[in-house]
Amino acid sequence: MVDVDEVLAMFMRGFERFIGQQGWELRLERFALFQNIYRPGTDETISMVEGRRLFDAFFALERHDIDVAPGAQAALESLAGQANIVILTNAPEAGRAPRMRWLRENGFPYEMLIGSGPKGSLVADMAALIDGPAAFVDDLLPNLDSVAFEAPGVHRFQMVADERLRPMAPTAPERHCRIDDWDELGAAIATRLGL
Ligand SMILES: [Mg+2]
Repeated sequence: MVDVDEVLAMFMRGFERFIGQQGWELRLERFALFQNIYRPGTDETISMVEGRRLFDAFFALERHDIDVAPGAQAALESLAGQANIVILTNAPEAGRAPRMRWLRENGFPYEMLIGSGPKGSLVADMAALIDGPAAFVDDLLPNLDSVAFEAPGVHRFQMVADERLRPMAPTAPERHCRIDDWDELGAAIATRLGL
């Protein structure tokens, strides 16, 4: 079970390009989204309402201008030979079709589920459907903690694709294995799943 934004997709870089076209500037100063969006040349951050509007508008675009995280496609393709891969994204529902298109066009022809909020219960439901081991990959600590709580048998991996976010991302390597490189992560998942 694999997240999309900042795991398979370089979301922040794509969103940065988009808000730039809308006259806003991203300054990555903290592990947050809207508190990093400034009116250029000022110390004024975007309002939550306007930030949310931009976020929804970005996902509603027919084409998602987001780059693939290096190594992600090859790593999943290799795992897909022996494992079932499901994409779990919290993208807005309005972005369902463009998100599926992005996944397909970038070499991720896997089932996709859109959720909202912490992912633990959905992961627990899916893990209950299979006999073998399962793994979960996400960039966000709250999702990883939620899975640890709701589905403790699922192997958890934290991956943060954007190099700029890596030092800022809340992490808990004692609870969830942290690997930010897809070559290494793919191998670690295969080992943990006994593939
Ligand atoms: Mg994510």
